[in-house]
Amino acid sequence: MAEHAMTEHAPGTSSFETRCLHADGHEKPMNSHVWPIFQTSTFMFDSPDHGADLFAGRAEGHIYSRIGNPTVQAFERLMANLDEGVGSVGFSSGMAAVTGCLMPFLRAGDSVVLGDTMYGPSISLAQKYLTRWGITVLIVDSGNLSEIDRVLHTSPPPKLLYLESPANPTNKITDIAAVSAKAHEVGALVAVDATFATPFFQRPLALGADLSLHSLTKVSCSSQHSPPPHLAHPHSPTTSLQYIAGHGDVIGGVVTCAKEEHVNTVRTWRKDTGGILSPLDAFLVMRGIRTLPVRMEQLNKNAIAVARFLRSHPAVEQVLHPVFDDFPNHQVAVRQMSGFGSTFSFTMKAGYDAAKALLENVHLAVVAVSLGGVDTLIEHPASMTHCGVPLDLMRQQGLTPSLIRISVGLENPDEIIADLAQAIEAATAAFPVKI
Ligand SMILES: *Cc1c(COP(=O)(O)O)cnc(C)c1O
Repeated sequence: MAEHAMTEHAPGTSSFETRCLHADGHEKPMNSHVWPIFQTSTFMFDSPDHGADLFAGRAEGHIYSRIGNPTVQAFERLMANLDEGVGSVGFSSGMAAVTGCLMPFLRAGDSVVLGDTMYGPSISLAQKYLTRWGITVLIVDSGNLSEIDRVLHTSPPPKLLYLESPANPTNKITDIAAVSAKAHEVGALVAVDATFATPFFQRPLALGADLSLHSLTKVSCSSQHSPPPHLAHPHSPTTSLQYIAGHGDVIGGVVTCAKEEHVNTVRTWRKDTGGILSPLDAFLVMRGIRTLPVRMEQLNKNAIAVARFLRSHPAVEQVLHPVFDDFPNHQVAVRQMSGFGSTFSFTMKAGYDAAKALLENVHLAVVAVSLGGVDTLIEHPASMTHCGVPLDLMRQQGLTPSLIRISVGLENPDEIIADLAQAIEAATAAFPVKI
């Protein structure tokens, strides 16, 4: 049933925006306009033979919601379409998706190449557990093609190259097409965590990667909070608050594969380890996807405005945003992405004390981890999201103690800038820049 709409809205025949709204299939159960939430743990068999046929793969249908669920599958079809893969596998968190990209493809004796800049827990997962299970973890400057080449030609050849682009938190850019070509020469698979870009701005599989993954926590949602007292407008209609509710309520992840055999590998891993996305979360992510293009366009604009302001500020040392033409691999970013998302980092000239004071003095921006949502979040990676990264690796990444990560939201950009300006002023008053 949904197959008809999927073909009609195949990538290349309809725009991304249209596919966000129509590629989940027009024919839904009971003429429902949106996909219903199948909140059931199990499904009834017509007969013992029917049950046996389903388990043996001789019949199509639903068995048990840890294996598959109609709402989750509807999301997976939509996601595979948007991410330009043959199939997607929904997970209960971004980290469950990261695990699903690594574990089923590796065994003791193998080696895996990791980019040197990535989400803290992803590095921890590799360094804490993969090594314990006899897998060699090689960490490489993924922005440097000759170093990638050297590491790929170690013996035995690595099985998998795993990277983030743009990477969390410094936005480090890797040339996905070039590294994929190099990895494939030695038979290694390429997995790209593209959480920072979302499929709207970048599609790793179209660039040659084998697996693309996203933390859905970031794709579709954000933290929800009440406005700070100075913004609580006495006449604001209550509907605006209802508008906000509905975001900030999902933890999820997804892996999209370029080859059918990999879809099966990742799906079987998920069945055996149990980390499937819940039907309710699949529903909420599908709701978020309907407005993904408009949110991403505006977030991209707002983030660029904020990045330009910070770059012009004398108390700010560096702004790590790929829009600037002196940002490393800026040309690659422009080639492989159609926009930059909302999250970037910057450093303070007066060091850690000033960075902390800035966070203490923001009023509009919320001090919280997560990113890509509808409101502005700000955090300190060295003590928060990336606190598990070993110090030498932090240094290699440029993750300094004065680095602040901001996920710019959909507030009026002038007001985000004004908030940061006053917080920087307060921070600089307490900790002046030494000249
Ligand atoms: C947050 C994040 C993850 C993990 O996602 P969760 O949904 O929090 O488990 C993975 N990769 C990147 C780049 C992230 O920012």
